[in-house]
Amino acid sequence: MSLGLEGRKALVTGGTRGIGLAITRALRARGAAVIAVSNAEDQVTAVRAAFADDEGLSVELADVRDRSALEALRDRVGELDILVPNAGINIRGKAVDLDDAHLRDMIDTNLYGVFVTCQVFGPALFEREHSRVVVTSSAVAIHGMDVRAAYTATKAGLSGLVRSLAIEWGPHGVTVNAVGPGIIRTPLTQAYIDQFPERATATVENTPLRRLGTPEDVADVVAFLASEDARFITGQTVFVDGGITAGSAWW
Ligand code: NDP
Repeated sequence: MSLGLEGRKALVTGGTRGIGLAITRALRARGAAVIAVSNAEDQVTAVRAAFADDEGLSVELADVRDRSALEALRDRVGELDILVPNAGINIRGKAVDLDDAHLRDMIDTNLYGVFVTCQVFGPALFEREHSRVVVTSSAVAIHGMDVRAAYTATKAGLSGLVRSLAIEWGPHGVTVNAVGPGIIRTPLTQAYIDQFPERATATVENTPLRRLGTPEDVADVVAFLASEDARFITGQTVFVDGGITAGSAWW
């Protein structure tokens, strides 16, 4: 086993809240220096304060929809071993009703934002040995869902992206994978759970492992994919969903 990440430098987008914050913590706990990135000033301030004593963690303000902001960040960050494009949003609505602003925001954040993050930081990864990209996709990449057609399309796109980048970047020694979380209790989902507790109950009943996920369930798998132990895995989406994508006992 060689899950330690000492001497490695990682960048996590959306790294100040929810799954991304758990990834930040998991990579730090294994010894990597981490740059957590968010577009939310209040989160940047709060996480900076919470980790004020930790020299291995820096928190940066940048919007993943903004290529020039990411390029400026890259110029400040320098060399990089582990890239975790995790920032994502989910706006629910029937496909025919989803307005253009929300549709574009989801595509810009979840798909364009991840693509551009990979474009901008990819060359820095090529300079290092055994570099890693771990994208946050979703169980909905392969599991359709009501009122989430656009979100589903962006996440399916990410699983396609990691397959193709794995082919392009493998010769540079970079592995490119995704995690596909199921229903994870985070600020993104908590309001929905509070609004529709019966749906959370139904989800648990339809999840083979009979619970919702935690951000740490996902973060530990990201840390594994970022480690030397995952050296021969690339182009994959690893579902961290308690078995939701395996199917359910509906018959
Ligand atoms: P949260 O909303 O709790 O955290 C997402 C973080 O990303 C926030 O800090 C958010 O900031 C930030 N972010 C959003 N847009 C941008 C942007 N344009 N630039 C920079 N940062 C941004 O979500 P989760 O932790 O739940 O989700 C993390 C990832 O996991 C997402 O990609 C999501 O799609 C995916 N996922 C989540 C699941 C779940 O059940 N929670 C299931 C499957 C996948 P701000 O607060 O300003 O929006």
